[in-house]
Amino acid sequence: MKTGLVFDERFLRHRAPYAHPEHPGRLEAIDGRLEREGLKALCRGVPARPAKDEELERIHDSRLVALVDETAQHDFLQLDPDTYTCRDTALAARLAAGGLVDLCAEVAGGRLDNGFALLRPPGHHAEADRPMGFCLFNNVAVAAKALQSSGAAKKILIVDWDLHHGNGTQNSFWEDPSVLYFSTHQFPFYPGSGAIDEVGGGAGRGFTVNVAWGEGMGDAEYLDAFDRVLLPIGRSFAPDFVIVSCGFDAADGDPLGGMRLSPAGYGAMTAKLQELAGGRLVLALEGGYDLNAIARSAEACLRVLLGEPGPPVAGPSPSRARRLLDDVVRAQKPFWPSL
Ligand code: ZN
Repeated sequence: MKTGLVFDERFLRHRAPYAHPEHPGRLEAIDGRLEREGLKALCRGVPARPAKDEELERIHDSRLVALVDETAQHDFLQLDPDTYTCRDTALAARLAAGGLVDLCAEVAGGRLDNGFALLRPPGHHAEADRPMGFCLFNNVAVAAKALQSSGAAKKILIVDWDLHHGNGTQNSFWEDPSVLYFSTHQFPFYPGSGAIDEVGGGAGRGFTVNVAWGEGMGDAEYLDAFDRVLLPIGRSFAPDFVIVSCGFDAADGDPLGGMRLSPAGYGAMTAKLQELAGGRLVLALEGGYDLNAIARSAEACLRVLLGEPGPPVAGPSPSRARRLLDDVVRAQKPFWPSL
């Protein structure tokens, strides 16, 4: 199998002048582990290039693009209580989006089987008109739109397993039946959106699926959500392409979250997604703040992309998750009779 990998030293130059959980050491930890395990050498590097205005503006207002560009004139800005910029941030943000666009194009074109984009800054909180929650441009949403506008894919499934709900991605495709947004996230929690009854609007009703659950969920519960909700809906939707908003902040030990996913759990979720879209699957890094957990989880995901079998994970799902998944099924059944 051929797996593409996006990584660029310029992602490391985006940094805050104070201690911030979203710091360059995150990417260095992941990259270092993949290198030491000999996995980077098995991948084909896909260079990151700056996303063009036209690509960004399929999702974002031109005013937001201009605002992010303008941050390059300042040593430091705080765009919201969580979101900082430095002089190198605007370029890193464009490279993250552009790198993911190109990686997805390579996979959609059959030149790569699948891929993993090790990106900073992350993207899924970024809205059409404002940066938010460490995010400047919504990398995954921009890449989905690029796949559609090039004709490389019509129907796209976005799976967001970051600890947090991807409000920016949900809003980007709220009324769009050609992009199915599925998210698992701690709830109620930042950013506040993502309740089970948020199912999309207009022609997009049923094309937003939110598994909003309390803290403490682990491998068994996440895999149960995949088996009971995501995979049945995914098979009916029959996407041409799958992009994962791959946050590792639902990992056990993450300082921001209360979930308990193991590296094996992340690997097993990756393996389950391979049955959709003929395996055309790209993971794009979002959050994740425990350096050991994110490095080991990224390794587990990449091993699966490279062709290793999904790691075994075991354990019955507690009734709390079962009842919650019953609620998700009830909310989605009108749109997905196969549930
Ligand atoms: Zn997150």
